[in-house]
Amino acid sequence: MSPALTNLAYIVAAILFVFGIKMLGRAETARSGNRLSALGMLIAIVATLAQSGLAYTWIAAGLALGAIIGVLAARLVRMTAMPEMVALFNGFGGLASLLVGWAELEKILHLSAPVYFFHNPVVPTFTWLAIALAVAIGGMTFTGSILAWGKLSGKFGSKAVVFSAQRIVNSLLLLAILVAFAGFVLGSGILASTTVYGLFLGLIAGALLLGILAVLPIGGGDMPVVIALLNSLSGLAAAAAGFVIFNNVLIVAGALVGCSGLILTIIMCKAMNRSLPNVLFSGFGAVEESAGGDTITGEMKAASLEDAYYVLEAASSVVIIPGYGMAVAQAQHAVKELGDLLEANGATVRYAIHPVAGRMPGHMNVLLAEADVPYEQLCEMEAVNPIMGTVDVAIVIGANDVVNPAAVTEKNCPIYGMPIINAHHARTVFALKRGKGAGFSGLVNQLYFLDKTRMLYGDAKSTVTGLVAEFKSAR
Ligand code: NDP
Repeated sequence: MSPALTNLAYIVAAILFVFGIKMLGRAETARSGNRLSALGMLIAIVATLAQSGLAYTWIAAGLALGAIIGVLAARLVRMTAMPEMVALFNGFGGLASLLVGWAELEKILHLSAPVYFFHNPVVPTFTWLAIALAVAIGGMTFTGSILAWGKLSGKFGSKAVVFSAQRIVNSLLLLAILVAFAGFVLGSGILASTTVYGLFLGLIAGALLLGILAVLPIGGGDMPVVIALLNSLSGLAAAAAGFVIFNNVLIVAGALVGCSGLILTIIMCKAMNRSLPNVLFSGFGAVEESAGGDTITGEMKAASLEDAYYVLEAASSVVIIPGYGMAVAQAQHAVKELGDLLEANGATVRYAIHPVAGRMPGHMNVLLAEADVPYEQLCEMEAVNPIMGTVDVAIVIGANDVVNPAAVTEKNCPIYGMPIINAHHARTVFALKRGKGAGFSGLVNQLYFLDKTRMLYGDAKSTVTGLVAEFKSAR
């Protein structure tokens, strides 16, 4: 394949990426956008491998292997495990960039032997810089994402881990990384080759360690910000790897992921009402289970499906607030059916979406879109909160942290300041959950103890299906 043809293919791929990302912004076009971007990636991969002179049989074999793994992952990974899978994707992206940077270094070393490559004036400083960035950002993204994966899946516990002198240790490590980085990039021809190589290995080790130490003190409700940031870093590492091997499409794709991840990080920070430095350095979430529940009195009062039906049947406005529990129960289709029945009964039905509900950005939007809930019925938190006082019934379906009034009322509560959906302003609240389980940040929720709140215990899907049955049998 000629270089001109390859670049043409890259331009087509880049255009498909850009349009694909644009289409991901709307639920109706998101699926086509995904397919368009995947087509762009296919074109980019085939063009790159064909240009490298690789036999087409190898390309076909690689594609088949990748497709099998992709199909199996898409079929076997549960919807609730998606966020963990995204964390793994980010991590492997970072590792790939690290390996590309390292492999390129070894290649140049090999080509310039026996003259040690670091004294080879032909290699520009820019190449050293790109290699250093690819391995540093890639290494940090890899270990940080693996730890984030463990926290999200509950394997390492979701809480923040803080220890004394943590900031000093992190600062010293960062300083050591900067020294190794500068020594590697600028040391060629000045320092002994073995020293420069040692600095390179030190840079990798430091970056891997920093990824762990940076994510360790982050937990609880701040995890969405970290996931978005790691996503952005994986893109930046890929762009740096693109500069290492002078691959235009890798630079474009990496920059797109880097920028979109950064925009998402900013959106998530705003949703949490926190600044990025505050998220990264405050150790939010390192709290005991009882925190935030100090002033809670009373008890959680259960109601039967029949009681709930009579209240819902008389309601003229209902707001449904979904959370992680709806994803666990896969209750979205039953929820849509209930929403339709309430509408048919004359009620105005809205679905209130909190930006960090669930375990990944847009989690609730994805589930409700899958159940064909009309886009117009979805309300952002800012739009729904002003009218919550006029709402007859708020149905909280497996949501906990995102409706915890302690975030508004309790100054000592660790999530104080995080915006919530004001379910507690509605006249009546039905909270659907299995038992007394805490939310992701481990806090007790005073919403469940209010006089106006009734608990509908059980798996969200069977509870909602039960409510649907009540409506149908009354017809
Ligand atoms: P939470 O995790 O706060 O609460 C979920 C609730 O659902 C639990 O209290 C649980 O109670 C209940 N539940 C679990 N399974 C079921 C089921 N099968 N049926 C009914 N109820 C069930 O969820 P929220 O959506 O309110 O908040 C999301 C949290 O996750 C926030 O703290 C957010 O910061 C964090 N997070 C969000 C990410 C994102 O990008 N959106 C990423 C990472 C973290 P019980 O056990 O009693 O049933």
